[in-house]
Amino acid sequence: MDFAIVDSPEQAAFRQEVSQWLKENVPAGIEHSVDPKDMSYEQYQLRRELGWRLGKKGWLYPSMPRQYGGGDLGADQMVVLYDEISKLGWSLPPYYDAGGRMATPTILVHGSEEHKNRFLPPICRGEVRTWQLLTEPGAGSDLAGIKMTAIRDGDHYVVNGTKVYVGSSHGADYSWTIVVTDPKGPRHKNLSWLMIPMDLPGISVTPLDLLATGGEGGSGSGVKNSVFFDNVRVPAENLVGGENNGWKVATTHLEAEHGGMGRLADRRVIYDFIAYCKERRDGVAIVDDPAARVELVELYIESEITRLFALRNHWLSTSGKPRSYEGSQYSLRRKLSGLEISEKMLRIAGPRVLTTDDKCGMLKGMVEYFVRDAITALHPGATTDIQRVIMARRMGVGRAEKEQAGALR
Ligand SMILES: Cc1cc2nc3c(=O)[nH]c(=O)nc-3n(C[C@H](O)[C@H](O)[C@H](O)COP(=O)(O)OP(=O)(O)OC[C@H]3O[C@@H](n4cnc5c(N)ncnc54)[C@H](O)[C@@H]3O)c2cc1C
Repeated sequence: MDFAIVDSPEQAAFRQEVSQWLKENVPAGIEHSVDPKDMSYEQYQLRRELGWRLGKKGWLYPSMPRQYGGGDLGADQMVVLYDEISKLGWSLPPYYDAGGRMATPTILVHGSEEHKNRFLPPICRGEVRTWQLLTEPGAGSDLAGIKMTAIRDGDHYVVNGTKVYVGSSHGADYSWTIVVTDPKGPRHKNLSWLMIPMDLPGISVTPLDLLATGGEGGSGSGVKNSVFFDNVRVPAENLVGGENNGWKVATTHLEAEHGGMGRLADRRVIYDFIAYCKERRDGVAIVDDPAARVELVELYIESEITRLFALRNHWLSTSGKPRSYEGSQYSLRRKLSGLEISEKMLRIAGPRVLTTDDKCGMLKGMVEYFVRDAITALHPGATTDIQRVIMARRMGVGRAEKEQAGALR
């Protein structure tokens, strides 16, 4: 079986450049742990260091405009950059920065020039880490039903309420947060977005004792938290996209989160699993078994389809083509194929690959983490049910008028 992806000559030259750069710039001592729950503060700092170096090069947020700290890379180069990063077991950024990933396209579409100049460069250069704060105890899928208030008081908004299932280990500098700015206003017309510095008085963070997860190809969150806001005074100039215009702003945030921009897939686990199945142990390899070979090919196809959906979305968004249900289609596909691939891995290699024992465990628990992550990944960024609902609305199924995809540029 030959699973190689063929580069154009330009891509081959860029791959060489990226691989050389990574050899010279990945900080010494960094571990390639696949499970973010195991990441010590020192290891997190090393990843941030790599983030700063990537940021200087414009490769931390490679598709963002150079004037805001990005790299202005096109789709062909992005594919190569993500592929080389994923060989090391990471995604971009190489640490959890979900708030930054969703805020950057959203601010680009809905922010003022002042917001773009103030918020985007520090995120794109890796100087700050940002969480995304949407979910509340009474509002997950029904995001428009949030209750956290931000009431204008002079030059500030006073924020009160609770967010849950948010963030990661090791804190954040900012939270990109949806709030209610008009508690008496009509649903969908009462919301706004604030970029909130996390060191403001009145913010407290409590880790939740949950099944640890990642969901982002080696840059996962590790832990989730509740964040409490008690009379937090946020400068009014940190409100992005206009007061009570937050639902419109959310359509871009959610489109990015659901996968409207693609997410160049982390394939390391697939490559490593195939290599593991080809390895001879006591003279026998898993691929000697014809039934395992069939499953392995199906597993590869499964992951390849997901990769191609991501690539298609990446191309649609970077080339400004019309989009409709594709973001949710990719998200649904990614979530379901994660489970399908997990099951195939277990059928092919047996339950011993779930152990973290060095002798028979797969690469220090990589498969165990993949399987655990596939389960928890069904929920974040909207559940599979919600992705189906969105697709139906955009396809005009059950509603006379087709719902439009959120703007990404
Ligand atoms: C690992 C993980 C990471 C997360 N990270 C973040 C984060 O960084 N920031 C953040 O803000 N939030 C985060 N979340 C929260 C996540 O966004 C919510 O869990 C998600 O939106 C679902 O909300 P809920 O859990 O309240 O489920 P609910 O909304 O209560 O849904 C419960 C069930 O009902 C179904 N359902 C609900 N409404 C409908 C409907 N209209 N039609 C059909 N079925 C429906 C759902 O599919 C689900 O099965 C994270 C969650 C997890 C598990």
